[in-house]
Amino acid sequence: MRCLACKALFRVKTSWDNLFIKKNYYLCDNCIIKYPAKYTYVAIPFDSLIHIFSVFDTSYDVNPISFILEREYLFKFISTKYNLKKVVFLYFDSFKEMMENKECINTLALLKRKIVVMLTYFSKY
Ligand SMILES: [Zn+2]
Repeated sequence: MRCLACKALFRVKTSWDNLFIKKNYYLCDNCIIKYPAKYTYVAIPFDSLIHIFSVFDTSYDVNPISFILEREYLFKFISTKYNLKKVVFLYFDSFKEMMENKECINTLALLKRKIVVMLTYFSKY
């Protein structure tokens, strides 16, 4: 397999535990250590609160697509915490991208529904 972050080739050890389980891996061991997931939660006061969950509290110079499993884990957590049919769920790659989309969030505020945002990178700068 090829690591999505550093593009290096890597192998996944096969054992009796994972012999018949097909699971995709997207990061090599080096990148898993280099980019440890640090899940964060921040609530920003708006008309109501905007609940922001992120995989990382900082921004790396790596394509956010590399962290598919980490985002999937966070999404599963959010979907157990909130009924996604009753909230407005948004996803952005970074906090900066979210803030550039102010018009979108202002429009959503008119809906008077709870807003839950998921980010890959929560870095204000
Ligand atoms: Zn890598």
